[in-house]
Order: sequence, then structure tokens, then C-alpha cells
Amino acid sequence: MNVADSERMAGLLKEIGYTLTDDFDEADLLLINTCCVRETAEDKAFGKIGELKRLKVKKPSLIFGVTGCMAQKEGENLIKRAPHLDFVLGTGQINEIAKVVEGIETLHGQVVDVSNVGGKINIEKISPIRAGQVSTFVPIMYGCDNFCTYCIVPHVRGRERSRSEEEILAEIRGAVDSGFKEVTLLGQNVNSYGKDIGKTFSGLLTAANEISGLQRLRFMTSHPKDLSDEVIDAIASGEKICEHIHLPVQHGSDKILKKMNRVYTAEKYLRLVEKIRAKIPEISLTTDLIVGFPGETEEDFRELINLIREVKFDAAFTFIYSKRSGTPAATFPDQIDDETKHRRIEELIKVQDEISLEKNLALKDKIFDILVEGESKTDKNIFTGRTRTNKLVLFKHGNEKPGDLIKVKITQPQTWLLKGIREI
Ligand code: SAH
Ligand code: SF4
Repeated sequence: MNVADSERMAGLLKEIGYTLTDDFDEADLLLINTCCVRETAEDKAFGKIGELKRLKVKKPSLIFGVTGCMAQKEGENLIKRAPHLDFVLGTGQINEIAKVVEGIETLHGQVVDVSNVGGKINIEKISPIRAGQVSTFVPIMYGCDNFCTYCIVPHVRGRERSRSEEEILAEIRGAVDSGFKEVTLLGQNVNSYGKDIGKTFSGLLTAANEISGLQRLRFMTSHPKDLSDEVIDAIASGEKICEHIHLPVQHGSDKILKKMNRVYTAEKYLRLVEKIRAKIPEISLTTDLIVGFPGETEEDFRELINLIREVKFDAAFTFIYSKRSGTPAATFPDQIDDETKHRRIEELIKVQDEISLEKNLALKDKIFDILVEGESKTDKNIFTGRTRTNKLVLFKHGNEKPGDLIKVKITQPQTWLLKGIREI
């Protein structure tokens, strides 16, 4: 979501004469777009804000701003803590950025505006400057109404607001016209897209599936409580809709799920997985997991391990519970000590790695359609691409170009990626 927001801010700033640079010393404007979902993300942002002060000292005309969720959460505190900042803008102020920067260019004051959390984000008409060349993001909604008790997102991004279907489809067409082959639709809970405007997510998926020139359509994130039969059917039948669902389960203990306010039980989640797999046998399922939530006993943790062994996710993002002030869970008794949290996450990662490897080993000698992304980061003779199921594939570069659709036979499956050779 932050990548998509940054691309939009870059688009707005272009209209007042700014272009992107990789060279910090050359920059006239420095923007840190922050996340505060976990403490580590905030620590990183604070670290960067401090570290980059040297640029402002060297070049006092440099305009230095902070945007995003941490800016929303901290507001004035940020300027107090880092007086070298010129502005702090909240998540609802994205479309103000050009005005704010122009104001500072002429008046040189400090601006803090976090007043519009949850307000209408009128960004539909912005032309984002998109990163990458094959795959891009299109936000379909903002905010979240779910209030999971550990999570800061609803507090810093406000209530759910859906963009209009026409705007979304027009944006996808625009991205395809400028060469993108794959689009990922973004929202905190895409399954509840349209509830506020009389539309449905399955309807949006089906409409987007008709866009000519688009090769692949992805979406994230899906909350298990709202994944409808219509959405499962749309994935099963839509030829561009990829067979991958990121379906965060968070935990395997009903007691913890209830305390998290996830509104499903482990059993209900398992039945949902069964239903999805019955309709789309090739589906890949990935998830988010949290260990060390307040009150998590050894037995609760075992239930989490049992659940991941039963589901066999293709991959999982694993997190240590991070106390976020302002969320209900931050005040829950029985907070878990760091040592226990670390021990549990290590075991969780070990078990999930074994499962991921087992799932990938089953793909040996199979042939997949791969959308070519480009050179690998470490070796320009190796190219990367992805299967429809979102698995990263590495292969020796021949004459492929980014955006090509090719067939690759998997020869060396590993835990996190697949190595293969091109099939002619
Ligand atoms: N809206 C998405 C995810 C948003 S945040 C969803 O509901 O699935 C991404 C992930 O961060 C969450 O799925 C959760 O696993 C994790 N997360 C959120 N708050 C957290 C916290 N306080 N501590 C640890 N992990 C957290
Ligand atoms: Fe956070 Fe829950 Fe909303 Fe996801 S669904 S953003 S975890 S409150």
C-alpha cells in the first residue's frame, strides 16, 4: 500500500516540477513514507529520519517531509523529536502534497497536517509514477473496519472507503496501455470492496478479467471472514485471475483468534481452505502468522503449529507480536516475554520452511507459464519470473525480455524459490 501511495505522491510532485532521483545528495526534496504496523518499521523510519539530517545540514534549502502511517500516528511529536523536518502529512493528506511543498518552497515554515484520517482521499485523477515495468499495484479501497485488537491500521488509515469501479478499471487500462502485464489490486480487506458503494469484489474481478492486454490479475489481502463463494468462483473461472490467495489466518488457537477479534475459528478457516482447494486444486495459499500475542500459552502455540501443518501453506509471513499503543491488545494482561516470543517464532519458521520445501519439491519436473520480470539482483545471466501461483522462478537468460510469457521446467525446487530451465 505504501509503494502505491509513494507512486501517487511522485505523480503529484512531478506536476510541480520534481523528478525522482537515486542520489540523495542531489535531491531537493526528501520524502520518507512510513509504516507503523510493527515497532521495527517505526524504528527504521526514526533511524532514517535521524541519519538523513546530515543532508539538510549540508543543504539547508532541502525540503524534508514524512508521510504515511507513522506520520499519522505521531503528528506534532515527530517535529518535536526531529525539528529538522519541514512537514508531516497524514494518510488522508496525500493529495495535498504538492500544495504543501509549494507552500514551504515560498514561506519556509513547518507544516503538520494529520487532520483527515479516514476522510475521502481524492486521488483518483492522479497519474502515478509507477516503479517496475511488468507488474504494478492498483489500490481499490482505503482503510479498514475490522479492528483486529493488535492492529494499528484502522486507527491510522481510517474506515473502509472503496474507489469507484470505473476509476479502478480505467486505472488498470491505463497501466496496461503503458506496458504493464500484471496488476495487483490492493486493499486491507479486498473482499469487502464495494460494500459502501453497492458493488462487489467478485464483480470487480470479473470486470477486470475482461481488460484486453492484461495478462495477470492478482489481489491482496483477503480476510477469511469475507471470502465469498462468488470470489472463489471468479478466481476459478477468470483466465487472468491468478491461482493464489494470500489469506492471513494469524493464529490457530480459537482462544487467541477470539482475543484478536478475527471472528472465525480454526475449524472455520480449515473448512474454507477445503472449499477453495476443491474448486481450485492448483491454488497456492500464503498467510500471515503472529506469535506471542498476549495470553498465548504453550498449548495455544501448539495449536498454531498444528494448524499450519494441517493447511500446508505455500509460504507464510511470520511476525512477533508488537505492542502498538492505542490498540486494545496493548493493554491486555499476560504480555509474553521476548525470549518466549523468539523461541516460538524460530520454531514456527522452521516448521513452515519444511512445509514450503515439501510443497516446492512436489513441483520438480513440472512445466509452468512464467511471466518474465527481469535480471536477478545478484547475477545478470539469471532472469527471474513468477508462476501464476506467485512462486519466484530463476532461469538462465536467453533472449527473454521482461514481460514475456514463457514456459519453464522446474529442475531445482528450494524453500523460497524454484530454479528451472526454459522449455522451447
Ligand atoms: N489487512 C491485512 C494485513 C495488514 S497488516 C490483513 O488483515 O490480513 C499485515 C500483517 O501484519 C497482518 O496480517 C498481521 O499478521 C501483521 N500485524 C499487524 N499488526 C501487528 C502487530 N501489532 N504485531 C505483529 N504483527 C502485526
Ligand atoms: Fe489490521 Fe485486521 Fe484490518 Fe488487517 S483486517 S488491517 S490485520 S485490523
